[in-house]
Amino acid sequence: AANLQEEVSHIRQLLNAANMAFNIETSPDLGNIPLLVENVLSMSLKEAVTNVVKHSQATLCKVTIQQLPNGWHIIVEDNGRGMGHDITSFGGHGLKGMRERLEFVNGSLNVESTSGTTIHIHVPHPVQ
Ligand code: ATP
Ligand code: MG
Repeated sequence: AANLQEEVSHIRQLLNAANMAFNIETSPDLGNIPLLVENVLSMSLKEAVTNVVKHSQATLCKVTIQQLPNGWHIIVEDNGRGMGHDITSFGGHGLKGMRERLEFVNGSLNVESTSGTTIHIHVPHPVQ
């Protein structure tokens, strides 16, 4: 998963420049991710972490990347201010675009904001 690995090193630099602690957990084997799925996952990861840097005022960003029997999961968590009423407005283009791209690969986007913000991205294995 070259693309995704590159994006991980990019977000590491981004968070480092923003003085936010970065915690990452990745499945040892992400399998053979189809190129289209990997592209969508990489773009989604980038947008989610860019949002953390731009909007959250967090001190910590935690990223989990997993391959599970039902597909790929990326969870981006921050300990910042949360989304408040923005959780339903989806004001910008970022989250909207992410959701549209994910739909293209039958994926989904879930946003949770209780303390901080958690973005859950899921893409199922393609049907053979
Ligand atoms: P764009 O992505 O088009 O540059 P944007 O980042 O403002 O603009 P979205 O990515 O769609 O737009 O996010 C919508 C809004 O949700 C943001 O404007 C911001 O208010 C809020 N938001 C998103 N992520 C976070 C976060 N991690 N913490 C706090 N607020 C967030
Ligand atoms: Mg954005």
